[in-house]
Amino acid sequence: MKWKEQILNLRAYQPGKSIEEVKRQYQLDSIVKLASNENPFGYSPNVDTALKEFHSSFILYPDGGAFKLREATASLLGVNKDQLIFANGTDELVQIISRAMLEHGKNTVMATPTFPQYKHAAIVEGAEVREVELVNGSHDLNKMLAVIDENTAIVWVCSPNNPTGSYIPEDELRSFLESVPEDVLVVLDEAYFEYVNDSYNSLAFLNQFPNLIIMRTFSKMYGLASFRVGYGVSSATNIKRLEPVRLPFNTNVLGQLVASAAITDQDFVKSCRQRNSEEREKYYTFCQENELHYYPSQGNFILIDFGRDGDEVAQFLLSKGLIVRSGKSLGFPTSARITIGLEESNERVRSAIKELLEKGVELQEDFS
Ligand SMILES: *Cc1c(COP(=O)(O)O)cnc(C)c1O
Repeated sequence: MKWKEQILNLRAYQPGKSIEEVKRQYQLDSIVKLASNENPFGYSPNVDTALKEFHSSFILYPDGGAFKLREATASLLGVNKDQLIFANGTDELVQIISRAMLEHGKNTVMATPTFPQYKHAAIVEGAEVREVELVNGSHDLNKMLAVIDENTAIVWVCSPNNPTGSYIPEDELRSFLESVPEDVLVVLDEAYFEYVNDSYNSLAFLNQFPNLIIMRTFSKMYGLASFRVGYGVSSATNIKRLEPVRLPFNTNVLGQLVASAAITDQDFVKSCRQRNSEEREKYYTFCQENELHYYPSQGNFILIDFGRDGDEVAQFLLSKGLIVRSGKSLGFPTSARITIGLEESNERVRSAIKELLEKGVELQEDFS
């Protein structure tokens, strides 16, 4: 059959092991999943209230325009309602933007390693992918500028970057935006924005730079990953171009309901940011004490370099009931990306790592 040539070598997304799977495999009772940066502190109690009070019919299609969620989001962000597009997670927004702009003959610029869906979507559309190596875990914005040419349609910047957690400083982002040609779309992926301490207001750039779109999600800090809701904020003109490319009913009735309930609870957001930040600090101290390299992170995860095969590290932690993400598939073969969890989970992780490090020493001694 006549498949697009470029999809023949693509692999489907490989989800991490589920809690049930690990329970069965290792006969363990207590499993903690720290592999996908979900929120271990849960979600706002407003969500449960909204779900309890929900009694609409499931027969009807959802509101394709997500009216209530649109109003709540516009009001929190201080933007107009026509500056928003909602999607089945930001994953879908990546796809929508790519479908709207990319095709054979065009190219798209991104960092590497970064969130893999930008590249994946670009390949499906047949566009050329130009990847620019991170420097010390951060975007090399100057080099990214240098590879933009007249066929570049989209530049992706992920801040905080997944998997390193680095956050682009405001002045760097501003001068980057000033230098990107006006006809190139800059997508700023802020999936972890809510976790950033002392964040700047990136939305303020939208007035000055009509070629900017900012993506955020309800999957991470808001703790609603299973409902699949993300959104983009840009100029009304850009949103108008993107809207026809999305599916008519891409967000569902429950997703819209819980997201609009969650977004009104900014106290929850603040408290999670604080708790995450405290727990992240403990990892820093631990890494310093044990001479492990890590990237300072503004997200709810930390990438630690163990100086040995990342799959082995992940496998060892798995045998202790701790599901983390090996850095191997993330472009950091000797690292693991660990979601910051509840205090007791993090302690479990650190004592398991400690055990691994001690074991490692023994192994080396056995060798000599
Ligand atoms: C998790 C994540 C997303 C996807 O989030 P969804 O809204 O659940 O699709 C997008 N970008 C980055 C950087 C992420 O880590």
